[in-house]
Amino acid sequence: MTIHHGIIDAIGNTPLIRLDRVSELTGCEILGKAEFMNPGQSVKDRAALFIIRDAERSGKLRPGGIIVEGTAGNTGIGLTLVANALGYRTVIVIPETQSQEKKDMLRLSGAHLVEVPAVPYRNENNYVHVSARLAAELAELSPNGAVWANQFDNVANRQAHVETTGPEIWQQTGGKVDGFVSAVGTGGTLAGVSIALKERNPHIAIALADPPGAALFSYYTSGELRSEGSSITEGIGQGRVTANLDGFTPDFSFHIADDEAIPMVFDLLEHEGLCVGPSSGVNVAGAARLAGQLGPGHTIVTVLCDYGTRYQSKLFNPDFLRSKGLPVPQWIEGSNPLVH
Ligand code: PMP
Repeated sequence: MTIHHGIIDAIGNTPLIRLDRVSELTGCEILGKAEFMNPGQSVKDRAALFIIRDAERSGKLRPGGIIVEGTAGNTGIGLTLVANALGYRTVIVIPETQSQEKKDMLRLSGAHLVEVPAVPYRNENNYVHVSARLAAELAELSPNGAVWANQFDNVANRQAHVETTGPEIWQQTGGKVDGFVSAVGTGGTLAGVSIALKERNPHIAIALADPPGAALFSYYTSGELRSEGSSITEGIGQGRVTANLDGFTPDFSFHIADDEAIPMVFDLLEHEGLCVGPSSGVNVAGAARLAGQLGPGHTIVTVLCDYGTRYQSKLFNPDFLRSKGLPVPQWIEGSNPLVH
């Protein structure tokens, strides 16, 4: 028996779950790292903890200080929960298009939430730049100082996956792992796990699963940062090579559209009881694609990034799905007590 002293000890060491249907379909062992079982219900708890510990070590984050971050939500949730446990406060800047559930979670956890219009990174009012400016202002104004978490270009984020996620996958599979696939928000998960696994076995295939609207699929296949289309996924879809992706190149890149990813999310819930968010659908669809490349008999790991109820008002809302031209599963349309 183990007693965790605070939520910080409960971050990481998540189960690795065999995904039966996609495994049977592909003839591979497809395994999902259940990151939704972290205290903040997402993979970003790991990065949040490493970023905060790094800021403490460098002396930039002082007792009672403020952590400022621009985030699609999950990093903000992780930062706020860890901050609460360690006596810091958070100011979170979020694009207004992100799910209401994530905003609610941030507010109820005590974050000071700043909603901004969703504009591209090249616009100075993009949430990342707003958060950087706010951090600089608060560092001057606040008696205990403020730090900018800067998850995209702060490699303490990637280091969380080099030191925890990657080694856990290696240990849980007993080193019997042939491939790893993940979507990219900051790139911390994909590049960090890649570093850890390649260090142990350079033959492990690493794959990017990119949604429409992201530019990395094009970058890694043609050398050009180009993006097209859009996606209902949140927290993924990067338009540039972040510092966390520095020095990283995937062995395979896949482009996964919503009509491939979202049915995967419903399939996991309906048939396996796994309630995950849209980015996990991109990841599992990506794992199936990698299985197609490697052939049957291989073991492929991917990430179940966050919990599905975080997107209830979108993913499980027939009107929203229809407005995006996505199929509505019959059990959601019909007798699901969550939506009636
Ligand atoms: N899925 C979701 C739901 C996320 O919020 C994020 C992080 N923004 C990711 C995937 C991608 O993780 P990373 O930042 O490590 O690339």
